[in-house]
Amino acid sequence: MTPQTAGPREQAPAIGDVRLLVDGLRVDARDGATFPTVDPATGAVLAHVAEAGAADVDLAVAAARRAFDDGPWPRATPAERSRILWRLGDLILEHAEELAALETRDNGKTYASALAVDVPGAAGLFHYMAGWATKLEGTTIPISAPGTFHTYTRREPVGVCGLIVPWNYPLGQSAWKVAPALACGNTVVLKPAEQTPLSALRLGELALEAGVPAGVLNVVPGFGHVAGAALVAHPGVDKVAFTGSTETGRAIIRGATGSIKKVSLELGGKSPNVIFDDADLPAAIQGAADGIFFNQGEVCTAGARLYVQRGVYDEVVEGVADAARGLRVGDGFDPATEVGPLVTAEHRDVVRGYVDAGVADGARLITGGDEVGDAGWFLRPAVFAGVRPEMSIVREEIFGPVVAIQPFDDVDDVLRAANDSPFGLAAGVWSSDASKVHRMADGLRVGTVWANCYGVFDAAMPFGGVKQSGWGKEMGHAVLSDYTETKTVCIRTAVPS
Ligand code: ADP
Repeated sequence: MTPQTAGPREQAPAIGDVRLLVDGLRVDARDGATFPTVDPATGAVLAHVAEAGAADVDLAVAAARRAFDDGPWPRATPAERSRILWRLGDLILEHAEELAALETRDNGKTYASALAVDVPGAAGLFHYMAGWATKLEGTTIPISAPGTFHTYTRREPVGVCGLIVPWNYPLGQSAWKVAPALACGNTVVLKPAEQTPLSALRLGELALEAGVPAGVLNVVPGFGHVAGAALVAHPGVDKVAFTGSTETGRAIIRGATGSIKKVSLELGGKSPNVIFDDADLPAAIQGAADGIFFNQGEVCTAGARLYVQRGVYDEVVEGVADAARGLRVGDGFDPATEVGPLVTAEHRDVVRGYVDAGVADGARLITGGDEVGDAGWFLRPAVFAGVRPEMSIVREEIFGPVVAIQPFDDVDDVLRAANDSPFGLAAGVWSSDASKVHRMADGLRVGTVWANCYGVFDAAMPFGGVKQSGWGKEMGHAVLSDYTETKTVCIRTAVPS
């Protein structure tokens, strides 16, 4: 635990307007309700944020509906949309320090990582998607029906998109969804997580400043079972994109059935990270530690199941445990901090509960798992060895800094173990043997495989899970099919004689 120091926390600008953003205006909730958002490092209330209820979601959807049905955005030239999205990417970079400070205050993550990863990542999405706005082409199709036809397809926006994001990357996750939605000409109602509403509201303001017309991006902080559920069920919403837990994903699917909405889902994971005995071990050990402890382990792709080939098992277990012991846990604004607090007291208790369950199940807790500090929700990174596949710390998503390490013998053995999960989000492989890497990449049932690296994201790389980790892709050009409809046009140009 490191002491708090004067730094960006004190220097950061005051938190701005925390009212809803509807139709280009900052407004209170209809019933005047607010909810507190809290600093996870201190437990102090940061702000009382307007809380959207069903009536507010109605107004936001109506604004997005008008902006889509009658407004300029879907009718703007692709080049105009492109320019505005590029400008929004630039504005995010210009406000990097302010946005990073909001993320650290609201989520607890380190300011250094917010500045190095979250903010440029969000800007990168807008810059990348700005390029796609001018490239949404259809095709011409030669058909064989009798007669002569001119047949082609058009890529059209889906309509009003309800975008529901989690608290681990509040700005980044908003950008992953808002950028492609807007590039394709859709309009949006964005619901940030109730734990971390601040940066999404600021993103909405910056979008207006960049030239996104009023009503195109509405932001409605509120609770999942109220504002989120209202958005999912709303007949005026054409598509829902959600990132969060698999359990909530099931509720989203159920909620969307009434109006048969398009749904894309990025859900939970319990990602395997596999170290072979021919790997560059120092790099693999560091990669395994970063893969699970980065962002406090609050990452859907966290490498929570670490498989180590038997010959190097003891060395890797010790190496990862040493790395965990060496991590500085503390206030995210302290430049020395590497692991910040968990997002809420409730979540810290859930993660702590898994550590206790691991111990009760007979796993060997080598280091960490204990709470630190008098204020805030700090937990020391935990390393378990001696685990069995049926233990909850091996099977369930913890979403915290807890890794379970198991030995394996060969490729077939580890593929069986790695694929023995309801999730299929991502996986890591560490080996210097290219053919082994390819066999693993072929055999892993996941959406992303990282080899000799972990957790590399790029706006150009499609990302999304298989099995119970989700439906659809984010980023890359793959995401565009989730935010467009293909219209087929078939024109008879001559009648058969
Ligand atoms: P966690 O359990 O880690 O908080 P969730 O998956 O429940 O994560 O939350 C992710 C996002 O989904 C948040 O914005 C939350 O408000 C929202 N949410 C939660 N429950 C629902 C629901 N029933 N319908 C729509 N959105 C929801």
